[in-house]
Amino acid sequence: MFEQKLNTLRDALENISSRFIAPIFATSLSIEDMVITDQIFRHELSIKQYSIDTERLPGDTHLLNKKIEEHYGQIIHFVRGDQLQILAFIQQHGVDAMYTSVDLRKRCCALRKIEPLKKLLAGKDAWVTGLRRGQSESREWLAEEAFDSSYGIVKFNPLAAWSEDDVWCYLRMFNVPYNRLYDQGYRSIGCAPCTRPVLPSEHLRAGRWWWESAQAQECGLHLSADGRIQRITQGKQ
Ligand code: SF4
Repeated sequence: MFEQKLNTLRDALENISSRFIAPIFATSLSIEDMVITDQIFRHELSIKQYSIDTERLPGDTHLLNKKIEEHYGQIIHFVRGDQLQILAFIQQHGVDAMYTSVDLRKRCCALRKIEPLKKLLAGKDAWVTGLRRGQSESREWLAEEAFDSSYGIVKFNPLAAWSEDDVWCYLRMFNVPYNRLYDQGYRSIGCAPCTRPVLPSEHLRAGRWWWESAQAQECGLHLSADGRIQRITQGKQ
């Protein structure tokens, strides 16, 4: 079963690599995204890898980037949001405005994550992610392939059907580097002020924006224009 998932993943990534001219993988350096990074480097696929430096990332996430360079001999390029706009936002609302209201938290995410992602995706023809259906209720209808109307690009989620155990199985099998915060109780890692470790009894994303209601807890990177994660396309289950 797991071997079948591995073969399906490799076929999907090879297909994207050969079918598109400018495919991109935007990684958050999560454990899921490290599976895809490993596949891309391992099989020398022509899918460019980038990450977004929100300038609020935990030190361990930057440390992982160094480990990736040592492990693969290749780097993941980082992009940042507009420095002037971020500075203006901080001057007006404070550096930790995300705790003040959901609106300010979303504006912080928009400046530090969504705007740089839009720039990254401009001119690209396919977008690969490491999203899984099991990560949250809002992702349970995630498609393996769907057109993302928010960004106007075909989006591939080749790990949609993977479980968290599948991901760990892969990382151990191929000795893939990962963020050491996962060994300290974190199960989903974003920016330092917006991420905390979770108890074994808690949902894996309970440590993200934990002070907000469950409905608000997406940063907006993966919401389609109607505000929902894309539904499974017909025949893609
Ligand atoms: S996750 Fe937190 S710090 Fe990071 S961009 Fe969003 S609100 Fe800002």
